[in-house]
Amino acid sequence: MEIKRKKTRTVYCGNVKIGGDAPISIQSMTNTDTRNIDKTVEQINKLEEAGCEIVRVAVPDMQAAQAIKEIRQKIHIPMIADIHFDYRLALEAIKNGVDKLRLNPGNIGDANRVKKVVMLAKERGIPIRIGVNAGSIDQRIVRKYGEITPEAMVESALEHVEILQNLNFEDIIISLKASDIKLTVEAYRLISEKVDYPLHIGITEAGTIKSGTVKSCIGIGAMLLDGIGDTLRISLTGDPVDEVKLAKEILKSIGLRNFGIKMVSCPTCGRTQIDLISLANRIESKLSKIDKPLTVAIMGCAVNGPGEAKDADIGIAGGKGSALLFKKGEIIRKVKEENIEAVLLEEIIKM
Ligand code: SF4
Repeated sequence: MEIKRKKTRTVYCGNVKIGGDAPISIQSMTNTDTRNIDKTVEQINKLEEAGCEIVRVAVPDMQAAQAIKEIRQKIHIPMIADIHFDYRLALEAIKNGVDKLRLNPGNIGDANRVKKVVMLAKERGIPIRIGVNAGSIDQRIVRKYGEITPEAMVESALEHVEILQNLNFEDIIISLKASDIKLTVEAYRLISEKVDYPLHIGITEAGTIKSGTVKSCIGIGAMLLDGIGDTLRISLTGDPVDEVKLAKEILKSIGLRNFGIKMVSCPTCGRTQIDLISLANRIESKLSKIDKPLTVAIMGCAVNGPGEAKDADIGIAGGKGSALLFKKGEIIRKVKEENIEAVLLEEIIKM
């Protein structure tokens, strides 16, 4: 079933279009010291190779802001500077060629300082992401609502938005992240009814690879199914390359992006007579390197396999020492167990 995406306006981050009819873009964030140019470039290149389309780096001091210049020259994907409080770092990052800022104007304080940053961003065509995190909402707003609620998060974001709008700046992207899934999803639902700025979605502080994957799939999945989200980042305590892999898997599973082959496989049961688990794992790893818009089914038995996977373009259904090769549910031929992998891959290459 097709997902109807909420209509948002378009903003450009370098050459990547965010919002409107653009595909949902994948972001990640480096965890290297930005001042270490070689290490940061190395990690960004790995992220790009994995499928990252926009990368964010932390800019905690002037040296990091200055490092942006060389890093930007050595990478191929747009780069975001993550800045808190200090407007001078934002100005330096823009001057050094950054493609987008993540900055909350209300946290900079002095109106003239905000104006300087916004004017320079406007002059260079650089968008600003307002990134509200549940843990850092202004206490005045928290007191008004009694606790951190979706409404409080939205009000906080809209206050920052208003500062930019008053300076005639509209290249805005918004995020409203919390580690609580329901709070995050409700906040995004609410803001998507109020504004048409593109939304950067994610569950923050989601956890390590296992718990973070579960939380991100639930939260981001719920938003995507609601048609919410123009760009996303999975936050994992671990290698950021895993964030990108997971983001691709989520978008591919929901049907919002086409990242090569989609594999479906049955859970196995008492009818399974071949070693389907290791076969499925081996095939999955080989299929990840093939860029074709196909669905491949790895099923455990001939009784239910071809029928249950009749929507798959091609698949195998295990038997005793053999498997049936099928296409769109129609059986093509029988293959010996030792040849299953090779025959399937050969057929896929031909398709
Ligand atoms: S496809 Fe066959 S082996 Fe797999 S779960 Fe269904 S019945 Fe069991």
